[in-house]
Amino acid sequence: MNGQTADIRCPLCGGSKHSPAKYRLARCDDCGLIHAAGGAPARDSSEQYTARYYAERTGAGKSGSGNEIERTTRSFSKRAEKLVRDFGPGGRLLDVGCGQGFFIACMKRCGWDAVGVDVSPWAVRFAREALGLTAYEGSVENVPPGERFDVVTMFHVLEHLRRPVQALEQAAEHLEDGGTLIIEGPNYAGFDRLWHGELWRGFTDPSHLSFFTPATYRLAIERAGLSVGRIDFQTWDPAFHLLGAGILPGARSEPDGDTAGRIRRKMRSNIFVRGVCKILYSISRGLHLRGRDARIYARRKDAA
Ligand SMILES: [Zn+2]
Repeated sequence: MNGQTADIRCPLCGGSKHSPAKYRLARCDDCGLIHAAGGAPARDSSEQYTARYYAERTGAGKSGSGNEIERTTRSFSKRAEKLVRDFGPGGRLLDVGCGQGFFIACMKRCGWDAVGVDVSPWAVRFAREALGLTAYEGSVENVPPGERFDVVTMFHVLEHLRRPVQALEQAAEHLEDGGTLIIEGPNYAGFDRLWHGELWRGFTDPSHLSFFTPATYRLAIERAGLSVGRIDFQTWDPAFHLLGAGILPGARSEPDGDTAGRIRRKMRSNIFVRGVCKILYSISRGLHLRGRDARIYARRKDAA
């Protein structure tokens, strides 16, 4: 692959020279983006984001019962409450890659006017029919051009896209003056990836095409005419992984949603376990062991 000018283009900069990277991936010689070297054609298809895809991730959509919907909606409330703390009690929000729409539903409960867009016809139908939301089907291009928002969110979207910079540009066009674009996704440079190796969730989702680090997130965002404000990282949680080692086949396995729930319940089970977990977490925080995801706050350069 080294020095080859085969028909592989870097999703970030369009460069064609790549070097082999770990895990059978490619690293762009020009910008450093780690990516899946073009990916399989099926990876780009909106058809892959089916009921099963979402059920594996949010645990919802299996039965579609009222209880299940309520439980899943509440699971997004921490994310919504954080946004309200940062941006105030009301505003307009566009969620790009809204999936089934649980986050938008939470934001509406918090008093925000929130709409979404998603490539999955199945998820958009769910958002409209089961949750009664406004959701556009397709990419951000399918949002009516004149619509402006105080906050545009792209949670776990960029790594799925063939043209992430273009998507960021299009999302930014929907920002009000002084509006904020929030991007969140897996951090290839995080401690999670080192711990889990090939079993890292960033890798086990076959629809992931790009594996960003803080540096390549910044580059993509700046190429889209935005300036990066703050980057937040999850803290890698040693207690979670140590408890997981007792449940999972190997210490390095990454738990699915159900198993993660069991581990979290164990962590809260008694006051002693809870204390030990807190101490381990504080140590990890002090050592700046960054977990799976990075969250970046960006603004348009002309409005910054
Ligand atoms: Zn590149």
